[in-house]
Amino acid sequence: MKTINKRSWIVVVFSAVMLAVLALLGASMCINASDYALNPVNAHLYTRHVLLEAGRVLDRNGKTLAETVDRHRVYPSDLETRKSTLHVVGDPYGYIATGVQTTFRAELSGYSLVRGVPSEDEQKPDLTLTIDARSCVAARQSLGYNNGTVVVYNYKTGELLCETSAPYYDPENIPGDLLTNTDMYEGVFMNRALRGLYVPGSVFKIVTLCAALENIPDVESRTFFCEGERVLSSGTVICTDHHGEQTLKEAFGNSCNCVFSVLAEEIGAQKLVATAERLGLLSEYEIDRGTVLAGSMDLEDPTDAELCWAGIGQNKTMINPTSMMILCGAIAGGGKAVMPYYVKSVKNDLMSWYSARTKRTDELMSPAIAEKLKEYMYNNGTNYYGSFGLPELNICAKTGTAETGDGKQPHAWLVGFCDDPEHPYAFAAVVENAGSGRYYAGNAVAAALMPLL
Ligand SMILES: [Zn+2]
Repeated sequence: MKTINKRSWIVVVFSAVMLAVLALLGASMCINASDYALNPVNAHLYTRHVLLEAGRVLDRNGKTLAETVDRHRVYPSDLETRKSTLHVVGDPYGYIATGVQTTFRAELSGYSLVRGVPSEDEQKPDLTLTIDARSCVAARQSLGYNNGTVVVYNYKTGELLCETSAPYYDPENIPGDLLTNTDMYEGVFMNRALRGLYVPGSVFKIVTLCAALENIPDVESRTFFCEGERVLSSGTVICTDHHGEQTLKEAFGNSCNCVFSVLAEEIGAQKLVATAERLGLLSEYEIDRGTVLAGSMDLEDPTDAELCWAGIGQNKTMINPTSMMILCGAIAGGGKAVMPYYVKSVKNDLMSWYSARTKRTDELMSPAIAEKLKEYMYNNGTNYYGSFGLPELNICAKTGTAETGDGKQPHAWLVGFCDDPEHPYAFAAVVENAGSGRYYAGNAVAAALMPLL
C-alpha cells in the first residue's frame, strides 16, 4: 500500500510540474506572440531581414514617407525629405532603434494578437505622424554641414511638428562607407532629439533664474554689477562683456555670467540640482516608445567655481534638447507641460491599431513663476534677439553658446516658445560646433517655424 501511495504521489507531482510548465509556456506564447510573429526569420514579413509587408508612414499632411511597393520598401522621391525625416521614420533594418518602422513594426505589419499576421493581400494600416516633413526639411537644411537637432511641438496638443537630426544618410541609397566613415557618420543612427546630451551653456540660465525667483526673496528688487569677470577661490568666471550695473531681467537678457554665478552661489548646489530635477531635465522618459535620455549634473561637494560654472550651464552638466523644449512648453502652459508625441494613429479602413493620447507632466513650477519666466523670456526675444525676424509670433526665448572644451567651436543653442494662441509652438535647437546660439540656432528655429505659419 505504501509503495502504491508513493508512486501515486510521484505521478501527481510530475503531472503538476508538467501542467505548470505548459501554463508558463502558454503564457509566454501569448505575451511574446508579437515577437515570435515579427521575428526577422519570418519569411512571410521579411526578405533578408528587411521588414517589407508593412503599411505606409505618412506625415501630418498625408505625404508618404515610407511604403512597400512590389516587396520593396521605398521612400519619397525627394532626397531632402528622405534625409530630413530619417530618424523619425527609421530604416527597415532597425539600425535606427527609435524610428517608427522599428518601434511600431507590429502595428505597421497589421499584426494583432487575435488575428495574427495578416495575409499578403490584406490592406496594411497607415501610420500617420504629427510631423510636418516641410518643417523637417527646412530645419535640417538650416543646419548646413553641422550636426545637431531641431525640435518643435505644439505645447497645447503635444503634437511634434518638427524633429530632425544630423548626421543622416539616404535610406534609399545607403552609403557603402556608412559604418567606416566616422568623420561623416559618427553617431548617425542616434536621433539626437531623443538621445542627444549636450552641455547646455546659457540656456541653463532658465533653470538658475527659476531657482533664484523661487529661493531668493528680494532678487527682483536688487541690482547686480558685472566687471567682466569674477575671481573666486578656485577659479575665475569670465563674462562676455563688462555689463556694469543690471537688474535681474537685464542680466538674463545680457546672459551675464557674473550675475548668474552670484545667483548660483546664493541658491546653493543642492537647490540648483533639485530645481533641474523638478523641471524634468535629469529624468529619463519615453515618447512614442523612444527613450529620451536623462540629463546629468555633477555637483557633489563642488568648489565655488564648479558651482558657479554649473549655474551658467557649463561645468559637467549635460541636458537633452527635447527636455528643454518640454520645459519651455511648461512655461508657456502656466507650469504644466503637455508631453510631446509624434505617432498620431495606426489604422486602415477597417480597424485601428493605435491612437495617440495626450499626457501632461506634473506641475513643474507654480503658475506665478511660469508667468515670470515667460515675461523674462519675452523680454529677451523682443529686446535682445530682434524676435528672430518674426515679431508677430511673440517669441519668448533663451540662447546658449556652449563651450565644449575640446578646442572646437561652441554648440549653438536656442530654446523657447511662441506666446501666440494661433501658433502655440515650443522649440529647441542645437547646432553642434557652430558658434553663436542667437545666429545659428536662431536661423534653424526660424526655418523650422516658417512652414508651420
Ligand atoms: Zn556680465
